[in-house]
Amino acid sequence: MSGFVKDGLARNFLAGRWVEGDHGSCIAVEDPGNQEHVADCAQASEGTLSAALDSARAFVERGDLSDLQPSERGRLMIRIAQEIRIIADEGAELLCRESGKTLEAARDEFLEAAQYFEYYGGVADKIEGKSIPLGPDYADYTIFEPFGISAQIVPWNFPVSIAGRSLAPSMAAGNATIIKSPELDPLGLAMLGLALERADVPPGAVSILNGIGSDLGARLVACPEVDQIVFTGSVPTGQHILRSAADSVVPSLMELGGKSAAVVFDDADLDTLMTSLQSGIFYNAGQVCSAMARVLVHRSLYDQAVERAAALAEGLTVGHGMENPDHTPVISARQLSRIETITSTARHSGARVVTGGARLERTGYFMAPTILADVDPTSEIAQEEVFGPVTCFTPFDTEAEAIALANGTEFGLVAGIFTRDLARAHRVARKLRAGQVFVNEWFAGGISTPFGGVGKSGFGREKGLEALYNYVRTKNIAISLKG
Ligand code: NAD
Repeated sequence: MSGFVKDGLARNFLAGRWVEGDHGSCIAVEDPGNQEHVADCAQASEGTLSAALDSARAFVERGDLSDLQPSERGRLMIRIAQEIRIIADEGAELLCRESGKTLEAARDEFLEAAQYFEYYGGVADKIEGKSIPLGPDYADYTIFEPFGISAQIVPWNFPVSIAGRSLAPSMAAGNATIIKSPELDPLGLAMLGLALERADVPPGAVSILNGIGSDLGARLVACPEVDQIVFTGSVPTGQHILRSAADSVVPSLMELGGKSAAVVFDDADLDTLMTSLQSGIFYNAGQVCSAMARVLVHRSLYDQAVERAAALAEGLTVGHGMENPDHTPVISARQLSRIETITSTARHSGARVVTGGARLERTGYFMAPTILADVDPTSEIAQEEVFGPVTCFTPFDTEAEAIALANGTEFGLVAGIFTRDLARAHRVARKLRAGQVFVNEWFAGGISTPFGGVGKSGFGREKGLEALYNYVRTKNIAISLKG
């Protein structure tokens, strides 16, 4: 497996080479499904980070990607996609063990990352500027330039697909990219490094470094050499990074958390809702930024919907990710305690625990699939991101009330509408404060549909053509033709 692992230690991908990273200490990676040790991962020191920045800067100055024929850049990206597909099975097993997710979901992450390289590889030669009419004495046009060095901080919930989501447009635009892997599950990204190595990505185009967020992550985003920051993670970390970006005046893309609501009208099909609820709040044990964390149901359907949701939660199979069950562990002991605490506070503030509400008594970090009903929309559980398999039901009577409840948090990532009335769906969709609205299917859309937040869910968009323009800056060239 090339130099990815040496002496039992997973290493850093430094500008095309595998290095230990000189940090002197490593990260122990644990399997949340059985609490067994999976691997040790070498951390990158400050010197290794400097080396990554130096090779990225040299790469940018040589124009290895930016001056390449755009169609050639596209072909390189298609090669990366092919290599990701080749390693998908092997990578999925590692990712499944380190993250707790199902083997199938882990494989889907690699396939999705490959799709991002295919999609953005296909548009690398279509990043077109404009010609601006200034009369016969001038020629004026715009071009899109890469920023230079893009620093990307990746979260643990979908490390491989999220890295693909940001790295692919960054490369298509011609940037050099330095990725900080998430400390809880860094191995999937080391496999991505392997695919990059096998695709012969030019040295300096990409480095993938391992380290703790408050150490390596904070250092990376504060480096004056960085030209752009892409952050996907929690609001407090995003705020911290923005403060640092303000000091160096660096453009940033923030993909943060959510507390997204499904609005279920009186004519909704409950079978459709239940299918969406299962993926919306129980996929990846609810550790999804765009999870269906709140379910607002018209009072005429409310009791029936709550009862069916509880039956669904109780019927889920539970197991280690390798067995591909419906329900898997959360990432860590810390995350499990956090989810339990916020759920038990909800009970004390009047929420009804219809099912779940506590950890499952078994080895591994399993939270019971949890349905809370009659949740006060102003309570902590209705306002704060849980990031676990817990959703909150609240009834409503009128369309206006539903919209106000859905919009009643500081977040605004996605929202959902369940109704058979498409006129109502269009009308309500326009009023919901969210970057994406799903109608009658949670997670409808795909890699080509823009995704991102409003309010504390962040700013900028990932996915789709739209995202590409987060990775370039516009230059205007104005030429006088007089004389
Ligand atoms: P987190 O903010 O704790 O960590 C995210 C990443 O930031 C990790 O790699 C971590 O090492 C790093 N980090 C931590 N402190 C840092 C610092 N001071 N400077 C630089 N980097 C630092 O978030 P998490 O727990 O890994 O992920 C869960 C959160 O991510 C949730 O809030 C979730 O909603 C959000 N998320 C958002 C999206 C989206 O696209 N909007 C996608 C996935 C996850």
